[in-house]
Amino acid sequence: MEDSLKENIYFMWLSGMNMPDHNTINRFRGKRLEGHLKDIFSAVVLLLSEEGHLSIREVFVDGTKIEANANRYTFVWGKAIATQKQKIRGQLESLWSYAQNIYNAELKEPETPDFTEISAEKVEETIRQINQKLKDKEIDKEVKKKLEYGAKHWPENIRKYQSQQEILNGRNSFSKTDTDATFMRTKEDHMKNGQLKPCYNWQFSTNNQFVVNYTVTQTTTDTTKLIEHLESHKDQYGSYPETATADSGYGSEENYQFIEENEIEGFIKFNYFHKEQTRKFKEDIFRRENHYYNPDQDCFYCPMGQKMQKIGEGKRKTSTGFEQQVSYYQAQNCQRCPLRWGCHKAKGERIIEVNLNLERHKQNARDLLLSPEGIEHRKRRPAEVEAAFGNIKQNKGFRRFLLRGRKKVEIETGLIALAHNLSKIRA
Ligand code: SF4
Repeated sequence: MEDSLKENIYFMWLSGMNMPDHNTINRFRGKRLEGHLKDIFSAVVLLLSEEGHLSIREVFVDGTKIEANANRYTFVWGKAIATQKQKIRGQLESLWSYAQNIYNAELKEPETPDFTEISAEKVEETIRQINQKLKDKEIDKEVKKKLEYGAKHWPENIRKYQSQQEILNGRNSFSKTDTDATFMRTKEDHMKNGQLKPCYNWQFSTNNQFVVNYTVTQTTTDTTKLIEHLESHKDQYGSYPETATADSGYGSEENYQFIEENEIEGFIKFNYFHKEQTRKFKEDIFRRENHYYNPDQDCFYCPMGQKMQKIGEGKRKTSTGFEQQVSYYQAQNCQRCPLRWGCHKAKGERIIEVNLNLERHKQNARDLLLSPEGIEHRKRRPAEVEAAFGNIKQNKGFRRFLLRGRKKVEIETGLIALAHNLSKIRA
């Protein structure tokens, strides 16, 4: 750009003959645009909407992973940290019990510490206590070595693990060269094998193949990111879209609940949406989904026509903290049933677990998706967001970020989305 501003007449005209050097341009991109680009992006989208190019009321949502500008071999895994901490915990326990075995009476006070949660200070204090008790005593060489090693390295390691866990903030992994990037499985390796690479997950909503909104997320699943994405739409445009269309990766109870509460018409598939349309699925009398439910009596009927009475309820929480309520229904006389062979393998009576709220949402989604309007939305969906991703990744060759850190990556995403929209008008 620096060169073009000096040589290219179009760039000269655009910049009004200003000729900033590449450092100034880079600083403008990385720092001055921070916190402002999304507003500029939405102002352009609104302008495009007024001109009739797109509608912000009807959006198609999907996600894709873009490789971060980070070294793919400098990873930190949450599970490895947990394992290392567990190892230190185990060694501390064994050292403590070694000391207790030899000098039982002396070590009864203080009581054995609780090693469930360990901190650098606790490790230091425990080793200090053990050393104090074993002072002037003859102890095993290996134990002595371990105590020396532990005193030197474990507190420092625990501090390192704690700061890494803070960076992880619930994620499974991060790259040391861009700590905001998470390792995700991508589809696009040249050998067509899935590869784990440090990535960010783009969530885009489009209309008429124009990008209406974008969010950059750090987790690999799309399911838990729809609400954040729709909230961001509201922040930018003052209200939620009227309709949202997305694939089955977004069909969760929490998402359905959210769109219902916020009066968004959601053409969002769920797992099994396509499978349940097949004859094999419909004719499988043993599938729980094909059992008749009587809402007045709150009971199901099994393939033998026996009533399945409700026997209890349970609650569970999803990874996002959303509470789900499930009900259990039990059949009767399974032992003597002639259909037992194909029905279930459990020893006693068959028990089924049903989330009635999710079933209600799925029925609403099914009605919408199978309506003429739903079929139209489903037809359009693959040619909407995928086309924008295809243009950016394949035609423009953008497959890896140039900047590091989530804030800068968001700016880069905004610039790419803005450029995509503007180039579409030109086209
Ligand atoms: S085995 Fe039990 S649940 Fe299955 S059809 Fe027979 S009675 Fe109904």
